[in-house]
Amino acid sequence: MTTTTIELKPSSNPLSDAEREAILANPGFGRHFTDHMVTIKWTEGRGWHDAQLTPYAPLSMDPANMTLHYAQEIFEGLKAYRRPDGSVATFRPDANAERFQVSARRLAMPELPVETFIAACDALVQQDKAWVPAHGGEASLYLRPFMFANEVGLGVRPANEYLFIVIASPAGPYFPGGVKPVSIWLSEDRVRAVPGGIGFAKTGGNYAASLLAQAEAAAKGCDQVAYLDAVEHKWVEELGGMNLYFVYGDKIVTPELTGSLLAGITRDSLLKLARDLGYEAVEDRVSIDDWKRDTENGTLHEVFACGTAAVITPVGTVKSAHGEWSQANGEPGKVTMELRKALLDIQTGAAEDPHAWMHTL
Ligand code: PMP
Repeated sequence: MTTTTIELKPSSNPLSDAEREAILANPGFGRHFTDHMVTIKWTEGRGWHDAQLTPYAPLSMDPANMTLHYAQEIFEGLKAYRRPDGSVATFRPDANAERFQVSARRLAMPELPVETFIAACDALVQQDKAWVPAHGGEASLYLRPFMFANEVGLGVRPANEYLFIVIASPAGPYFPGGVKPVSIWLSEDRVRAVPGGIGFAKTGGNYAASLLAQAEAAAKGCDQVAYLDAVEHKWVEELGGMNLYFVYGDKIVTPELTGSLLAGITRDSLLKLARDLGYEAVEDRVSIDDWKRDTENGTLHEVFACGTAAVITPVGTVKSAHGEWSQANGEPGKVTMELRKALLDIQTGAAEDPHAWMHTL
């Protein structure tokens, strides 16, 4: 087979229109899955093979599957949006495909060709198009491509078999009641990633490392955790699942990619979009002292987080063991909301797409 030939074996028993519409009326996030999935195998010596679209179904797994023990797995997240004309488009799937290759290299896994990654996403979205929510209202179909070691054995080494899968889940608007700032717990002791480690890869281990701090943040009444660098505990890196931006008047700053934070696709898109809108958008180091001091002296006007799930989320209160402060009086800031609308308008097809980010099916 060529890697992009996907054999279609659709379900003879998909959900009825009424059942699907009932889910789409209130999908939440990551709770419901569409009727199908795409799977592609990789075997040492043979490469990629057996690409198939099949009914969504549980996997059967040997208890000694290497992934369950040594976590050799990676994933991606991207969205398909319904356009005003009823067509469907995904946002920058090539960028996700490239980041998937970066993650694969770091985890000693085979790299899926970019065009195969996109073809797999396209095949699933095409088949399950009815699951893409209606235009307007910020709802979308979230795609979750992932890959894991699929070899049985307890020896610690890169596996010689892998399984790549794409599943899809309808996602409701992140802020159904209007955009609300999130509160942040500043983790000054627990770190998410270290220099030379796997922080820049999208792999489950990074999320496992963040869960305890996330639970501690929740116990302190905060929504998200902000991580600092692991060496000096001084430089702001990112949240557990979103990148950060700091708005100083017409200058917006995002922490530079040090290797221990994820190169978010929303982050990258906003660097470009902010420049289109006349802002000076830069990557630089931001220390926790800068964050606190510049908020207090009034030069840092807004802070926001960004990622595929929420697009842009204003940051309201920041709490740490050493104090608490608030951005923009706890209200969504003007620049935050301007950028949020500009990006969402491109994604949903309400505005032109000057960078050709949308991939129409
Ligand atoms: N950082 C982390 C740790 C994430 O999990 C995510 C979500 N993928 C992001 C940042 C934002 O990345 P993106 O804009 O590509 O969704």
